[in-house]
Amino acid sequence: MKIVVHIEDAQRWQNALASAFPDAQVITSDAPSEERINADYLAVWKPSESLLREQTQLKAIINLGAGVDYLLHTPGLPGNVPIVKLRDAGMGELMADYVRYGVLHFQRSFDRYRAQQPKAHWLTHEVPDKADWPVGILGLGAIGTHVAQALSHDGFPVLGWSRSPKQIDGVSCYYGEQGLADVLRQSKTLVTLLPDTTATRGLINAERLALLPDGASLINPGRGTLLDHDALLEALGDNGHLRGALLDVFPEEPLSEQSPLWQQPNVIITPHMSAPTPLNEAIDQVIDTLRAFEAGEKVATINRQEGY
Ligand code: NDP
Repeated sequence: MKIVVHIEDAQRWQNALASAFPDAQVITSDAPSEERINADYLAVWKPSESLLREQTQLKAIINLGAGVDYLLHTPGLPGNVPIVKLRDAGMGELMADYVRYGVLHFQRSFDRYRAQQPKAHWLTHEVPDKADWPVGILGLGAIGTHVAQALSHDGFPVLGWSRSPKQIDGVSCYYGEQGLADVLRQSKTLVTLLPDTTATRGLINAERLALLPDGASLINPGRGTLLDHDALLEALGDNGHLRGALLDVFPEEPLSEQSPLWQQPNVIITPHMSAPTPLNEAIDQVIDTLRAFEAGEKVATINRQEGY
């Protein structure tokens, strides 16, 4: 078995995979091309076109992250090779913390205290009951479900939305176009944890933002393409009805210095850091996946048509 690894910190992956599979040849993508070819598996994050094109006998590509949008758009991706992505692998809990921070920022009025400070203004704000602060979560995959359950456990009513109907303890689940409108109308804080696909791009546009209640807030750690940023800026501006936003991802990263989002006082920008992949858990998951492939067991692969 030959595995080619391409990711930052590839050496650590190489060591871990080589020790899990002592009979395998595990190499990193900076090896000469004649060594890299004829791999059985690629374990990659943001691989180059040439790394994909030179392979002829892949059994699977393992995407070393939760989002497959970059990989699916890389030219040279072979059409008929199964793709496996990381599922949770510790990212769910990191994401839950990020979202908790954002929800509490608005529910406990930290945005208002921050605005008061330059004016040395000492004024307390009422603490709304968590039970009166419904949080909407768009996307109930491995990460969205983890976040939804964490917030529900914290005492927030949680409304979740996905493509297919679901039942999740502690979460009111919705799906479909009408379901989306129902979630938006009720959400004091909206969290977008959807993948970037043709169906989700620009999903949160002016029309849908208008469905959010007055004073609602938005947290986007999913993908930047989910939001129409012009519509968002309008909704966050002086005449808009939104209170604020916490944004981790953008259509182009790094976010341009010219973006008006940097100057918008009710926006917090973080540089795509909400849920970095915990290495040990990710490595364990990839080892399990490779073992399952080699044993001929069924492995959950992504649906290329749907894009996730
Ligand atoms: P999954 O693939 O496990 O789940 C995706 C979810 O989105 C599913 O619930 C799916 O519905 C839903 N969905 C997809 N398309 C639609 C649609 N058209 N309409 C309604 N629902 C839809 O993804 P993960 O939970 O692993 O990750 C979600 C995203 O979070 C990733 O794609 C990535 O973009 C982002 N992410 C960001 C990170 C960061 O650091 N900022 C870190 C990790 C992930 P169904 O269940 O019905 O199929």
